[in-house]
Amino acid sequence: MVTGSCLCGAVRWRVDGPLTEMTHCHCSMCRKIHGAPFATYAAVDPETVTFLSGKDHTSFFESSPGAMRAFCSRCGSVVPFPGDSEMPVGGLDGDPGARPEAHIFAAFQAPWHVIADDLPRHDIWGEEMEGPVIDMPTRAAPEEDILHGSCLCNAIAYEVPSRFKRVHNCHCSRCRKARAAAHTTNGFLDIDDLRFTRGEDHLKLWHLPGARYFAQSFCSLCGSVMPRHDRGRMVAVIPFGSLDSDPGRSADDHVFVGSRAPWYDFADHLPRHDEMPP
Ligand SMILES: [Zn+2]
Ligand SMILES: [Zn+2]
Ligand SMILES: [Zn+2]
Repeated sequence: MVTGSCLCGAVRWRVDGPLTEMTHCHCSMCRKIHGAPFATYAAVDPETVTFLSGKDHTSFFESSPGAMRAFCSRCGSVVPFPGDSEMPVGGLDGDPGARPEAHIFAAFQAPWHVIADDLPRHDIWGEEMEGPVIDMPTRAAPEEDILHGSCLCNAIAYEVPSRFKRVHNCHCSRCRKARAAAHTTNGFLDIDDLRFTRGEDHLKLWHLPGARYFAQSFCSLCGSVMPRHDRGRMVAVIPFGSLDSDPGRSADDHVFVGSRAPWYDFADHLPRHDEMPP
């Protein structure tokens, strides 16, 4: 038995059956919804999933015809869609037992993310997949110094310069819950560098109580993680998963590696820090 929750704790669930067929999905919809380089899902018998709380805090978005996504309307974390046989494992507490078996939609991997492990890579979703391949957002922006980003439903858009000061893959438990993913990839800019060009009134910001800086910004319509102005640290935080442009660089390092998910192994050669380097 494993339990799971969103970051704010409003949505909670329990899984009594086994989780199997864990895969890392690199499709652009997962990247935008989770605000991460990839999302990790496992197969589950929906009969074995019990929602313990949060019905009133769950919002839904149809990311492609017939494919429903659920997120916490308070904190923006991706949560399981009731009745679905695929579950995001980033929001689980403890060790689900299963381990990743493959990369799927690897043909759509983010240009700023390197797949370094030896797991099988499927361009889409393995041989048994039928039907059209859907990987919707292709909002290619001109190659220039200004990068463009947007949420999955396209209500919110923003621009940032490409001069990131730092880019971290963060494995802290807050980031993992917030994104329901193995880790985030966040870029940091001067606070004035982030400019929303559309839909700012659809943004929702949730501050983690008791935390000095931690907050999650997301689209209230589709749940995609969005950039934010962090006035405490005077920086702009840009989740790379929301970028439509290629930032031309990858992460500098892994941070808070001591808090990594039990089902995630490091395979690349980026520096690893126990906490945030100074
Ligand atoms: Zn929540
Ligand atoms: Zn996906
Ligand atoms: Zn949206």
